[in-house]
Parts: sequence; C-alpha cells; structure tokens
Amino acid sequence: MAADKAVFPGDSDQSLRDFQELLAQTGEVLRRDFSCRTGAFSGRTPGELKDILADDTLLPSRGLGSRETINLTAEKILPHLVNVASTDYMAHLHCATLPDSIIAELLLSVYNQSMDSWDQAPMATELELHVIKEVAALAGLSPETDGVFTSGGSQSNLMAMLLARDSYAAGRLNHDIRKLGLPDSFRKFRIYTSEAAHFSIEKSAQLMGLGFRAVRPVPVDRRKRMSTPHLERMIREDLDGGLIPIAVSATAGTTDFGSIDPLEDIRRTCDEYRLWMHVDAAYGAGLILSDRYRSRLKGMEKADSVTMDFHKMFMQPVSCSLFLLRNPSLFELLEIHADYLNREEDEEEGYTHLVGRSLATTRRFDALKVWMSFKSLGRETLSSHIESSVDMALEVYRYLEGSDDFEAVTEPEISSVVFRYLSPRGESETESLNGEIRKRLIHDRGIIIGQTRVEGKTFLKMTLMNPKITLDAIKRILNTIRSLAEAIRS
Ligand SMILES: *Cc1c(COP(=O)(O)O)cnc(C)c1O
Repeated sequence: MAADKAVFPGDSDQSLRDFQELLAQTGEVLRRDFSCRTGAFSGRTPGELKDILADDTLLPSRGLGSRETINLTAEKILPHLVNVASTDYMAHLHCATLPDSIIAELLLSVYNQSMDSWDQAPMATELELHVIKEVAALAGLSPETDGVFTSGGSQSNLMAMLLARDSYAAGRLNHDIRKLGLPDSFRKFRIYTSEAAHFSIEKSAQLMGLGFRAVRPVPVDRRKRMSTPHLERMIREDLDGGLIPIAVSATAGTTDFGSIDPLEDIRRTCDEYRLWMHVDAAYGAGLILSDRYRSRLKGMEKADSVTMDFHKMFMQPVSCSLFLLRNPSLFELLEIHADYLNREEDEEEGYTHLVGRSLATTRRFDALKVWMSFKSLGRETLSSHIESSVDMALEVYRYLEGSDDFEAVTEPEISSVVFRYLSPRGESETESLNGEIRKRLIHDRGIIIGQTRVEGKTFLKMTLMNPKITLDAIKRILNTIRSLAEAIRS
C-alpha cells in the first residue's frame, strides 16, 4: 500500500479534515432524526424490522463510502432505534447518555487504548486507577480499596463470587482453586442472596462450577429487602446440615423494586459467620452522588466487594461498570502472568498491567467517560439529576396509591415503581390486561415501560432515570394505559 494513502483519521491533514466533515454530517443526521421523532420507538414489529433488512448485503464488493453509508444508516436504522432519552422510555435500568460521556466514547474509539497492559494504554491505565480511587472515596470505602472497570454488573458480580469462593478455599481449606480446580467439598458451598436479587448471582454460581442451586434465595420483607432473621436461620441450618456458607450477596437497589437490603445487619451476620460480604450496587450506586440519599447505602463501605454500574443511574453509554475490592491483594487470586503481556518484573518497577485483575483481556477505556462527565457536570448537577428521579418515583407511587384503578407493590427506595392496572371486573381480567397493555403501548403508542412478575402476577414497571421526566408526563402515560384498557375490554 502506498505510504501516502490515508486509511485512518490522523494519517494526514486531509484525512483529518475528511473525518471532521463526517462528524459534521453525523451531527446533522442526528439533528434530523431527533427532530422528527415522537415517543420512544417507531412501534414496528419484529417482522416489519426484518423486512427492512431483507435485501441487505453486509459486504458489497465495492464499498459505498462513508457519506452514503451514514445516509443509509440514517434512513434504515436510526428511525427504529429506541430513543432512550425520551420520557416515554422507562422499561429498564437503561439510561439516556450525557453529552460529555458521548464525546468521551468517540475519543476512546479514535484512540482505542486497550486496558490490558501499560504499554497499550499508559495514560489510560493511570486515569482508570485514579478514577477508581476517587469513586471509592465518594462511596466512603476505605483508601486501600482498588478495582477494575468491567463490561457490566454481571461481570462485576461474577468477579465478586469468584474471589469469595477462591479466597475461602485458599484461606480456610488451604486449597488453590486456580491451580487445582474445585476442592472435594465444593458441592457444599453456599451463597446467600435475596429472592429479589439479580439473576447474575445464580449465573455466576453456574459458571463457577457450583451450580445455581448453591445460591440460597433468602426471603424478603414487605418492602422487598432481604430478611436478616431468615438469612441467619438459613446459615445456621446449612451449617448444622454440614454445608459450607461462603458468601452473602446483598443488593443495594434490586433490579425490579430498587429495594436496598439492610447492609449493616448483613455485615454483622457476615462477621459472625466469617462470610464474604458482597454488595451488588449496580443500580443503587447512583445514590453516592446525593447528599440527601447517600445514607441509604450505609454499610456498603464495609463490604468486601462492591459492584457499581455507571451505565445505569450515572447516565453513561453502555458499557461502563466497576468492580471494587476492599483488600486488593486478593486480586492475586486471578492473576496469571504472560511473558508477552504483563511481565512480573514490570510491576515491580511501577508499571501497572490491569489485565492482572480483570476477567477480560482486551478492554475498553470506559473510565474516560466517567472522568469527563463528572468533571463537566460537577457534583451539584449530577446530584440534582439523581435526586429528581428518586423524588419523582415517590410522587408517582403516591399518585398510584391514591388512584382506585391502579395498585403499586411497594414504596420505592430509589427510582422504580412496580404497579398494575386494576380491572373493575376483577382479578382474572386484571391479569390478562396488563401484559396486553404493555404490548399495545409499544406498538400503538411508541411508549416502552417494563413488565415483571410479583407473587405470580403480572405487573408493570416504570424505571425512572431521566431527570426530564415530570409527573404530568407520567399521568399522560397512565391515562393512555386507562384508555388502552378500555379499548381492549370493549
Ligand atoms: C443491572 C443489574 C445487574 C446486571 O448488570 P449488567 O450491567 O446488566 O450486566 C446486576 N445486578 C443488579 C442489581 C442490576 O440491577
């Protein structure tokens, strides 16, 4: 290939100008797409979306060029992407993204640092380490705490369960799982988490060779928080039965209800039985930014490990999650040295190879998004965004409680409200109506809300993480639900 042929932005002054033009064109495409959108989604069915792609060839023999490709994307794809910034979108813990973090996402793709070894990402490695320390301090964790960015809460939780298992085996059984595989007693290992916890705890046990039955679901109280009397009883029963409790995974912000387990009580129980305490704060970690609500996470600072997702309440693009470990020397349980990547002698000279504490090898420079957006917005603005969602959820709950035709499950602790429409004709019609309402909201109105099951019944869910949302906007959606219910029933 000729030396003067530009392939990448940055190859020449001209290629940079061309790239700048593509950015401007992309900005224009975004402006046009957002200006003609209504609702959160075009409402298309799976079949209709497949039709759009029916005659598409992924790899044409001659490329279309960037301009035409951008235009084609704008025509075929963008109009059917969900607008996560719409106030009609509240299905999941899936957020709109802040402008500074989007710019960071662009920069981290252009520079494409990979976080495995220092020579692939010198400044990026130092910045990730710095962001981790600062976030740990914001969360009130001890100064020794260290961590690593991960692909999401599921991976962070897997790391927690893995380290809990391996440090138990190393410390109590003098058995090195890394070298030898599972110890003979592995079928007796037990992990405790609440019935309302995220499924990634069970999935972790499955991947770790313990089987998901090693996870004991602890009953929750009326407000969907782990019941510590039940936890204690289950641990004692298991010990009496010859089983081996190793860890408790408390949840700070359950996926459906946003409920926060009693973290201080759970710490006491873990101390009493010498168990690892993990806090899955994938959702609830957002409260660390709020002076008014931070105290709801009291006890998290005493955890052995913590999961935090920045791609939920912190409004960062997917993916952006953090795993924190109170005693970072335990990262050794994961570490494998490779001559071609992370030589042991480098570390002695102060070069950090983050691959040593990560399940992933090649890894994104997600810390830049957190750094740029925290700096740009500052604590006051970020805090008010988060507080407005928490305040709104309570208002919505009160409104639902005051309505005859709606029922809410429990008062929110963070920002999600689980509820259902009540048919005047009773339970069996109520049950069939709610699922149907959700589908019609998507396809007829472009409104996307969540759905879950509570005690065997279908419920709807609003996950409020958009600071622009107002009670009026919610009431409009609830009125739409009422009129859809009428339409379906007649
Ligand atoms: C979202 C969530 C997870 C999973 O996180 P991902 O980033 O989706 O992998 C785990 N735990 C809780 C409580 C969550 O809300």
